[in-house]
Amino acid sequence: MSEIDTAEPARRIDSAEPARRIDTAEPARQINSVAIIGAGTMGAGIAAVSAKAGCRVLLLDVDEAAAQRALDGVEAEFGGLVSIGTVADRLDDIAGYDWVCEAVVEDLATKRELFERLETARSDGSVISSNTSGIPLRQISEHMSERFRRDVAITHFFNPVQVMKLFELVPGEDTEPEVIDAFARFGAERLGKGVVHAKDTVNFIGNRIGCFFMLSGLHMAKPFLADGMTQETVDAVLGAPVGLPPTGLYGLIDLIGLDVMELVGANLAQNLPAGDRGLDFAEFPAAEQAMADRGQLGRKTGGGFSRRIKLDDGSRSAETFDLVREEWRPAAQPDLGGVPADLGEVLFADSPQGELARHIFGGTLAYAADLVPEIADDIANVDNAIRWGFNWVHGPFEMLDHLGPARVIEFLRSVDAPLPAMLATLEASGRSTFYSRGADGNRWQLMPDGAVAPVVS
Ligand code: NAD
Repeated sequence: MSEIDTAEPARRIDSAEPARRIDTAEPARQINSVAIIGAGTMGAGIAAVSAKAGCRVLLLDVDEAAAQRALDGVEAEFGGLVSIGTVADRLDDIAGYDWVCEAVVEDLATKRELFERLETARSDGSVISSNTSGIPLRQISEHMSERFRRDVAITHFFNPVQVMKLFELVPGEDTEPEVIDAFARFGAERLGKGVVHAKDTVNFIGNRIGCFFMLSGLHMAKPFLADGMTQETVDAVLGAPVGLPPTGLYGLIDLIGLDVMELVGANLAQNLPAGDRGLDFAEFPAAEQAMADRGQLGRKTGGGFSRRIKLDDGSRSAETFDLVREEWRPAAQPDLGGVPADLGEVLFADSPQGELARHIFGGTLAYAADLVPEIADDIANVDNAIRWGFNWVHGPFEMLDHLGPARVIEFLRSVDAPLPAMLATLEASGRSTFYSRGADGNRWQLMPDGAVAPVVS
């Protein structure tokens, strides 16, 4: 890493600054209690971490049994802080809570209708948020009251909430800074989460890049599968060799579910800006669409791209759904022969595995490098989102630094590929890496305008 010339003009980044106290007579908003609407996977998780942080929690659902199941999942010692009920019976009780958190199904009409009712019932001074995976806040806020637009944000937890560090915060155009400040302090100090500041664009940061990896991966893997590469090899190449978890590509989608990915694709098709590369991959390839249509969704349905079956002798055996033949077959050993052991070197390997990694993982790095400042003010928020939300060893820009940006630029030029915006900015700046360490030991980052600024953690 190169040293920063201290004579260089530096800027601070407002959105990445740590929580600032509002220095007026008006006290900043405090969150000590939360009313969560929707007691499914995410609502239950948010209730559990909030109670564990010592907050009073009200958990409401249309389905009383869902709320009861969520309460059963809260550790006994914190259960006393949680009360439950139905939206029909207890909606007015949200007036007694500092934060109203919506975590119902991912459907814009349902969320908007619910927000109309929550807005009437909540108290002045409370803050309100949606846990949507990717619906832009401006669509939720449209035609809502001024008070709502001032007090609302996206608070995007990742699943499982108790485990995943990422907490994305997205302000709307009219959101008061003190509202974001309150959520940032609560997320970091009370819940111990890693706060990432994202912009109000479809899928925010983590899912914009993570879903591009998955959806583009399904399409780009096809010619390799047709040439005889197994899905096991695809997953193995897109795991440890590039610093991703062992689930690789198909294993990750099995975990998330093809139904969720289909919804994500539809949201992307509707909301990605014209010309975005992700538009080419918003729909599933034919075999994956057929899987989704017949309910072969992933682990939640007992099998997606892989499954475990019970044999006649009682033992269990792993099977893979072969996407070329569209039938189940015994799982195979991946072929990692010849893949270099050093992190990321597979991207430069002259082999089918190398080509696969370049297309899918390299393509995702290039996509990410084109999205700043569209989805985030700086690269550090992007790297944190991907590390904390998808468990990559390095975020995209950290990985580019690890590989050597000059080497990546040279490769892209050699195949006549366009240079993503941040790589072009790096080249123009004359710097050799996106991050560097100053003489004071602090970490600095290259900004989209070519200046450098401190990384605020
Ligand atoms: P889920 O299907 O597990 O739970 C949704 C709950 O909302 C159900 O219990 C349902 O009964 C309830 N509900 C539906 N309509 C309601 C209404 N009008 N009023 C009150 N309750 C209602 O869904 P989930 O996975 O917990 O997702 C919730 C939200 O979080 C979605 O917006 C989703 O996109 C987002 N999200 C999900 C994940 C994930 O991996 N599951 C991750 C991040 C964000």
